Amino acid sequence: MSKTALKKFNSFGIEASCDSFTTFKSEAELSNWLAENKKNPNKVFVIGGGSNLLLIGHIPLEFIHADIQGISYQDNGNDVLVKAGAGVNWHQLVLETLDKGYFGLENLSLIPGNVGAAPIQNIGAYGVELKDIFVELDAVEIATGDRITFSHQECDFAYRYSIFKGSLKGQYIITSVTLKLSKLADLKLDYGPIRKVLTEANKETLSPKDVSDAVIKIRSSKLPDPNELGNAGSFFKNPIVTTEKYALLKETFPELVAFKVDDNRYKVAAGWLIEQAGLKGYRLGDAGVHKQQALVLVNYGDASGKDILNLARHVSKVVLEKFTVTIEPEVWILGEATW
Ligand SMILES: Cc1cc2nc3c(=O)[nH]c(=O)nc-3n(C[C@H](O)[C@H](O)[C@H](O)COP(=O)(O)OP(=O)(O)OC[C@H]3O[C@@H](n4cnc5c(N)ncnc54)[C@H](O)[C@@H]3O)c2cc1C
Repeated sequence: MSKTALKKFNSFGIEASCDSFTTFKSEAELSNWLAENKKNPNKVFVIGGGSNLLLIGHIPLEFIHADIQGISYQDNGNDVLVKAGAGVNWHQLVLETLDKGYFGLENLSLIPGNVGAAPIQNIGAYGVELKDIFVELDAVEIATGDRITFSHQECDFAYRYSIFKGSLKGQYIITSVTLKLSKLADLKLDYGPIRKVLTEANKETLSPKDVSDAVIKIRSSKLPDPNELGNAGSFFKNPIVTTEKYALLKETFPELVAFKVDDNRYKVAAGWLIEQAGLKGYRLGDAGVHKQQALVLVNYGDASGKDILNLARHVSKVVLEKFTVTIEPEVWILGEATW
């Protein structure tokens, strides 16, 4: 079987290959093809924009890409239901809804990737997660081609998690996502420096577009653009620790950055742990920890998937030794080696 080169399909810009790469333009085409071809889900990988992947060497899988376009709107008075195809670029969807004056997606501006992947890890940024505006999604079962709708509850969303990373991992291809946005102002300004940036802009009334502009400004100053420096955003998830563990850490490291999740758990800033472990800007060949944002691993040019993986393992080991906290990848690792 001839191999398909994947360098331009992953935001790390890493050379890798897969057995085949098939693109579908509609749910019907995808569903019929799967019904006829009876694919084994373990032999298939669903790729979106490739912005959350670490590809290593040859990946002996058939890649499927749901390039389903189209955005439709259902006006329900103060609310609007927005249904977008899996292949719609996420940030284009955000911009289109902002142009219409709808509130809901402004804090999720500039997240790379496509709509179909957004529910998989319940994308989130600046105090908002997909689950906050999610209604339902349509999907096709890989093994049968059957179409099915998943409700909010059935997706089982949590921090960087949905059922599609758990018991239904690799079983479904999402074809469209429906969100509920609002025509009424409901801005979330308390996360990170959003409010500060908006105060500097000195506006009397704020539109969702103003908040989006602030988020874009903050993100652009912090995160490397994958078109200029290969990366997959945050490489690690923020680890969740018990309140007891948090108290012990805080005693030893009073500057520790962490956020209370509930009465029993704290979310620790993985970027802070990596930085305090002395690894910000650390480099192993062409694989590096970003100089401004320690949570992001970057490809300075010719890093292989294995180079990035070796760096990630080193970072995780040093953090564990210093803080006795395990950090785990947020990105999907595919290929010759696993985490
Ligand atoms: C610079 C940068 C910044 C980022 N910032 C953020 C951030 O702030 N918040 C955040 O949450 N993420 C962030 N990310 C990660 C990434 O943008 C998201 O995870 C995004 O949702 C991935 O979309 P994608 O289309 O590129 O998916 P891919 O990387 O192609 O795939 C990711 C996962 O989704 C699955 N998948 C993709 N499409 C489908 C589909 N149609 N049906 C079923 N499964 C599918 C894949 O199998 C894989 O498991 C960032 C990444 C980069 C490079």
